[in-house]
Amino acid sequence: MLVYIAGSGAMGCRFGYQLSKTNHRVILLDNWEDHIAAISENGLQVTGDVEDCVRLPIMKPTEATEIADLIILLPKADQLPKMLQDIRGIIGENTKVLSLLNGLGHATTMRRYLAQENIMVGVTIWLAGLKGPGQAFLQGTGSLSVQNMVGDGDAVAPIIEMFNEAGLNASYDDNVIEAIWRKACVNGVMNPTCAVLDCTIGELFGTEAGLNLVQHIYDEFIAVAQSEAEGIDKQAIWVYIMETSKKASSHYPSMHQDLIQHKRRTEIDYLNGAVVFKGKRAGIPTPYCQMITDMIHAKEAMLGLR
Ligand code: NAD
Repeated sequence: MLVYIAGSGAMGCRFGYQLSKTNHRVILLDNWEDHIAAISENGLQVTGDVEDCVRLPIMKPTEATEIADLIILLPKADQLPKMLQDIRGIIGENTKVLSLLNGLGHATTMRRYLAQENIMVGVTIWLAGLKGPGQAFLQGTGSLSVQNMVGDGDAVAPIIEMFNEAGLNASYDDNVIEAIWRKACVNGVMNPTCAVLDCTIGELFGTEAGLNLVQHIYDEFIAVAQSEAEGIDKQAIWVYIMETSKKASSHYPSMHQDLIQHKRRTEIDYLNGAVVFKGKRAGIPTPYCQMITDMIHAKEAMLGLR
């Protein structure tokens, strides 16, 4: 298979690195000049659980010409529309395009650029970081679930097999939207709150007021999720959030890293902002999500990011 990773930041490098260990061809696509130069000159350097260096082709999305069998989308959410435009030339009739972005609403964006038969959606709990251009930091284990928008799992069985050859623990999920909401709930309660309060997950969950805030945001996510998707189990997702908060208690979530540590624009519009949008459409009030979205937008504006 010819696999492109469209958006080869931290997570794209994890997928690119692990897939490079299979017999499939992998090409990284990215627009960050220093990252392209570093990987082209020195290979992709990997530290963390393994120390390794792999030679992988990397180019800008508009420079790719060969028709893909699979394109894995891993840009940040606000980079997705441009990425979908830039990869048009490598999408053939049988190309599958899989989104593994965090957050909500990406299938809707994909439908604007792709035929329904090309679209796959998924969610992953693998983690990855970048220590600098061309330097991926990979720790821990994870998994991913994917679903085909048209047809069943049989049509994409070779893709799942390839992911499993790469040790990525993939499975087909007939109701992946439930898993997407579950992850969005985790991110939606922890990410913007820790960014605004400049705290770790443990610090947030360790105070009564912090936990109260988390619960209000959670209630809004669940009300909107249940209006949209089947199988949303409020109690089970809450247990999952509490377990995650304990396992990751010393961590600053990715939105804290993006906004506070690296002064980068966040994915808030695809998490709490998306819940506000969907809540309005469904007649469900979402005041806590609105407030925390406004606060993140305000901080982004103060930093000149919007
Ligand atoms: P990332 O910020 O590492 O990379 C996204 C894009 O931004 C890439 O094109 C990258 O080259 C570019 N970029 C990164 N740092 C840059 C810099 N300093 N200057 C210029 N460009 C830079 O994002 P990610 O963590 O790989 O996330 C991609 C998607 O995967 C997001 O939707 C995210 O929520 C999701 N995700 C991430 C993780 C994770 O652990 N990183 C886990 C699950 C899901």
